[in-house]
Parts: sequence; structure tokens; C-alpha cells
Amino acid sequence: MEFKGIEFDTYFKHYPNQEGFFGKYGGCYISEDLQKAMEEIREAYFTICKSRKFISELRRIRQEFQGRPTPISYLERLSGSLGNVQLYVKREDLNHTGAHKLNHCMGEALLAKYMGKKKVIAETGAGQHGVALATAAAYFGLECDIYMGTEDIKKQAPNVARMKILGANVVEVTEGQATLKEAVDAAFAAYAKEYKDCIYCIGSVLGPHPFPMMVRDFQSVVGIEAREQFLNMTGELPDAVVACVGGGSNAMGMFSGFLNDPVEIYGIEPLGRGTALGDHAASLKYGTEGIMHGFNSIMLKDENGEPAPVYSVASGLDYPSSGPEHAFLHDLGRVKYDVINDEETIDAFFKLARLEGIIPAIESAHAVAYGMKLAKQMGTGSVLINLSGRGDKDMDYIIEHYGIR
Ligand SMILES: *Cc1c(COP(=O)(O)O)cnc(C)c1O
Repeated sequence: MEFKGIEFDTYFKHYPNQEGFFGKYGGCYISEDLQKAMEEIREAYFTICKSRKFISELRRIRQEFQGRPTPISYLERLSGSLGNVQLYVKREDLNHTGAHKLNHCMGEALLAKYMGKKKVIAETGAGQHGVALATAAAYFGLECDIYMGTEDIKKQAPNVARMKILGANVVEVTEGQATLKEAVDAAFAAYAKEYKDCIYCIGSVLGPHPFPMMVRDFQSVVGIEAREQFLNMTGELPDAVVACVGGGSNAMGMFSGFLNDPVEIYGIEPLGRGTALGDHAASLKYGTEGIMHGFNSIMLKDENGEPAPVYSVASGLDYPSSGPEHAFLHDLGRVKYDVINDEETIDAFFKLARLEGIIPAIESAHAVAYGMKLAKQMGTGSVLINLSGRGDKDMDYIIEHYGIR
């Protein structure tokens, strides 16, 4: 399929380019000493991603340990309540650890093992990436250092406990606001010192080249499976595909399976409490071009041009930018980006639970809410929603803030 001069049947050969750019977005904007470390990861990944041994080992792990392929479920009662559009969900909530994040963490940790590294390092905010990486590290027998701000450690006690039970070393970061931003800085500083023995594992399609590409490639299993399963189930492709976008990894995984098809694609950002800066995390909708955390993309900035404070009811979506490939697909118009607010999200959360027996992660409920909106607008057809994770982690928050409706 051709779209605005881009040939999508050869898209993955050309994007990103050698330097890691998707159009003007992406790249590798980091200090000199870290350039060497990224160079090493790039070389290893380009070799390994073509190696039969690596590919077949990852495939085996996905089957035997992660529980892949995850199914697609038809949402009969939710669809029926909305009209004649058929809604389906890709069940990434049924992955081991309850979300799509393990798809790239297992890939990154296997890469670390092939590179002969002893340790993986990462930062975490809400703790979801930390738990997924700690799981992967335990599986492969790697050491694991997770950098986390003091404030986040206080808020996320269950995830901190999970990481420790899995054998990870949770490194407390006390500088500044002691949240995600400081944890990223501390983790990169540690990595610059230790990169001979370890690799940094980024938690989404973010950061310097090759991470946006590598994480997309590891997540593409979602889109590849979903396309084949949907064709088998219905004999057709879906009319629309929907996923929520924080950094953008679950969305890129799903979208990569459908970019070359006549399918409408929607990426959904959190509108939170409203449109004022600080009340949402809809970076593609309200942001401007800028460089942070080692890559050029579209980001939300404060008055000084620094990453702006962001908010979402879903802690996994509150990041002031999105992966560079999303910025590219946004400008191109191939993927449409839209927003869903907290209230619509919580409504969809309870509808999916009550009508289908599936409690979604609050992140994923953004995509479900948008699928429900589309169903009303479209009148006929089908929508495939990526259900990125399950809601067990959100129970305390829901009970405290919304009660049991
Ligand atoms: C982390 C997380 C997200 C957001 O990350 P992406 O990289 O945008 O996919 C979405 N859903 C769940 C369940 C998550 O844990």
C-alpha cells in the first residue's frame, strides 16, 4: 500500500534509517561515552536479529514461558450494547506478568545474554517496567538494577516488593523531585560507568537508536499474531485497529501488523482531567518537536522548554513525549491520534468488566473507551482493540477513587 509517497510494503526496510531516524524524528542524542555503548548494542542487535538461533530461542520462550500466542476475544455483549459494530480485543493481559511489556523485556534480556553481559539496568516510574525486567532477569540468571525515585518507591510498594522477590536490586534515587525524571538520569549515569558489564533496557519505543526500532521489533509479535488470528476468525481484516499510547510500545507492536493494510489505525493518548498543561499527557495532540531522553520527537514542554509535568489516571501513560515512530506516523497521517479522558476511561473499565468478565489495566481501558466511541460512529464493521494489560495492579486505586460502582 502507498500512502503519501511512502511504500508501506517496504516500510520496515527504510524506517528507521541507518542513523535511527523516522523522517526527522528519532536519532541518538546522548553523551560521547554512551555513544560507544549504544554502538555496541546496535551492532549486536543487527547481527542477532538475523540469527536463527536467537529467533528460535525467543519463539520458544514466548510459547513455553510467556504463554504466547495470546488469543483474540470477541466482545459479544459489549458490542451488542453499542449497536452493530463488532468489537474484538487482543489479549495481551494474558501474557505472563499481565501485560505486553514482557514481550520486549524478554527480547532485551536475551540480547544481554547473547552479548555476554552479566547485568541489566533500567529506571521505572510506576514499577511496571521494573517488574517485567526483573522477571526477565530472573529467568536468564542476570543481575538487575532498577532505579526508582523515593516518591515512586513510597507510592508503589507492591511493585517494589515484586521486584525484590524476583531478586532485583531496587536503587533509591533521592535527587530533585525523586520521581521518574531523576531515576532516568541516575540510571543513565550508572550505565555510562558500567556499560562493559551490562545493558540498559528501555521500557518502550523510546530513547536513543536502536531502542525505538528494537522494542518495536520485539513487540511486533502482537500485530503479526493478531492479523493472522483475526483473518482466521472472521475471514476479513478489521476495519479499524486501536491501541493506547504512553511511550507507544504496545501500539507500535499492534500497528506494525496493519500498516500495509487498508485498515484505519488509531493511537489513543490520555486527556486526563482536561486540556490545560499539567492535566493530561497527550503529547502528540498538544506537544511540539523537541529532544529529550536521547531522541527527537513531539513532546509537551513547560515555559523553559523542559519536559512538562504530565498527568493521567493511568500511571503507565503519563510520559511527556511519545516514541519517534509515532511522531512520524502522526505527521504522515497514516495513524490518527486522538484522546480519551479519565471519566470515559473509568466508564469503559467498568463496562468491560461487567459485560465481558475482563478487568483491563486502566491504560488499556483508554483504548477500549475509544473503540466504544468508534463503534457508535461507524454503525457497521469491526474494531480490534489491543488490550495491553490486566487491571489487577489497579484494584486499590479504583476502590479508593471510584468505589465499586
Ligand atoms: C506500560 C503500559 C502501557 C504504556 O506503555 P506503551 O509503551 O505506550 O505501550 C500501556 N498499557 C499497560 C498495561 C502498561 O503496563
